[in-house]
Amino acid sequence: MGRTARLFVVSGPAGVGKGTLVSKVRERRPSIGLPVSATTRKPRPGEIDGVSYHFLSNDEFDARVEAGEFLEWAQVHTNRYGTLKCEVDACLSRGDSVILEIDMQGGQNVRKIYPDAVLIFIDPPSWDVLVQRLRGRGTETEESLSVRLKTAERELALAHTYDVRIVNDDLEEAVCELERTIETFETE
Ligand code: ADP
Ligand code: 5GP
Repeated sequence: MGRTARLFVVSGPAGVGKGTLVSKVRERRPSIGLPVSATTRKPRPGEIDGVSYHFLSNDEFDARVEAGEFLEWAQVHTNRYGTLKCEVDACLSRGDSVILEIDMQGGQNVRKIYPDAVLIFIDPPSWDVLVQRLRGRGTETEESLSVRLKTAERELALAHTYDVRIVNDDLEEAVCELERTIETFETE
């Protein structure tokens, strides 16, 4: 059966496992594009500039906004994040599907530009598990944890606006569900 390259948006609260799920799907389907976003956030230990994100100063981010280089950008938690048009175009021009792992404001903005984009929301099995995962990742201070949990409450209340919802309880099952969802929309 023929496949059509599609644009997928994956959103969900911080710590739900978006990054983990997307990287597992890409191990199985390396051709799927994952554009590198730009951010004004400081790198976490182990993050590499140009691989995890393009880490920009506020002035550099402003300059790229001004130059019209972003497909979308948003203030998320306490920093700015944006999808660079050139990164998305590079993937789509290869004829490969693209996954944007971006927040829900970004998802809604992408939908305005690409009405065929498929918006996928990743749910935690419960609120307590979400808090445990976010703490367990060991990347957040108490302050940044509480900012992320506030954002998470707002995101969960809007999850019904997404096309597909996947609960990330058992990792292997959730990876399979994400993979199946991608294949279903590619062959639709
Ligand atoms: P996000 O990208 O949504 O912020 P991460 O992918 O960084 O989340 O995952 C947050 C933490 O939860 C990580 O420590 C990760 O290993 C763990 N995690 C992800 N998915 C699962 C799962 N299904 N079961 C248990 N732990 C998980
Ligand atoms: P983190 O700081 O944990 O890497 O990411 C925080 C949030 O920013 C996550 O919800 C992530 O999906 C979102 N994000 C990452 N890149 C982008 C982007 O390019 N655009 C938007 N709108 N959100 C992004």
